[in-house]
Amino acid sequence: MIRSVVIVFALAFLVLSLLLMQRQDPGGPLIRTRMLMGTVVEIKVDEPDAERYETAVTAAFNAMERIEDLMSLHVPESDVSRLAAAGGPVRVAPETLEVLQVALEVAAASGGAFDPTLGRLVRLWGFADGHPRLPEPAEIEAAIGGPGLAGLEVDGRLVSQKSAKDLLDLGGIAKGYAIDRAIEVLAAAGVRHAAVNAGGDMRLLGERSGRPWKIGIQHPRQAGEVLGILELGNQAVVTSGDYERAFEQNGVHYHHILDPRTGYPADLCQAVTVVADRTVFADALATAVFVLGPERGMALLNSTPGAEGLIVAADGKISVTPGLREVVTWR
Ligand code: AMP
Ligand code: MG
Repeated sequence: MIRSVVIVFALAFLVLSLLLMQRQDPGGPLIRTRMLMGTVVEIKVDEPDAERYETAVTAAFNAMERIEDLMSLHVPESDVSRLAAAGGPVRVAPETLEVLQVALEVAAASGGAFDPTLGRLVRLWGFADGHPRLPEPAEIEAAIGGPGLAGLEVDGRLVSQKSAKDLLDLGGIAKGYAIDRAIEVLAAAGVRHAAVNAGGDMRLLGERSGRPWKIGIQHPRQAGEVLGILELGNQAVVTSGDYERAFEQNGVHYHHILDPRTGYPADLCQAVTVVADRTVFADALATAVFVLGPERGMALLNSTPGAEGLIVAADGKISVTPGLREVVTWR
């Protein structure tokens, strides 16, 4: 009898302490994480009494999940999966249309370096299912042989692809859009200071404890090290790197950002970080600049209003736009 009472008390104590651990320090930020879009997403609300935004944070995660459900090739009912199955015309959600429009804008601005119709190629390399492999040259030839962007038709909310050789893939942009949606949900709930971070790609709102947010830029060759720290306000920051989703074969490094012209991983950069107002834009631009390489990539950044960036070239040489130079502290 006494033993069971002791056990009950011990259990109650355990449960209580676990519950208390879940709560934040009074006055500290509210921090929550969820697995979404193949990465850990962290939402941080830096407000006095931050816990009252618990519901808003859940709603922000749910908004991101909706974007994943619309735009992931892994979700059978998503807009992109339905388009892949039907070829079209497929009526897509307004959100998908919005992402597609930004994708087409950045595709045009980058001369096709950003190409949302590379789904076949991405699948061929196995980056879509997490089992990357080196395809045969003939397979790559076949996968880049479609009309690409020219075969993508958007008529109102109806989208179609002329050729079965191409497949819409929003993998280079959808995460950024989902982050924007989360920030919108938080802002609409009255949150003034927050950060939404999806595997290093993020958007910030307001300040962190009355100061600018400080964001580390991952060193592309030294895991866990940062190249520099950015001080940012209401901005988005996105990095495309050759160290993400990569594999080695016969001493060659292969990764998931593909050059639409060759069908092979783009090899002019190690990493590109872009700062812009909207994450959807920063995301597409980072991928585009990565493919273009340091020279043409820097030209694109400098000619894009509201965009700043940092490029680490294949040889490790770093170049930055003037506006970014003002907010970076090198490590
Ligand atoms: P990110 O990490 O944002 O640079 O996006 C890389 C992802 O975008 C890949 O995993 C592919 O799904 C897709 N992708 C690869 N190459 C390109 C490209 N040249 N243009 C647009 N999307 C691409
Ligand atoms: Mg991107």
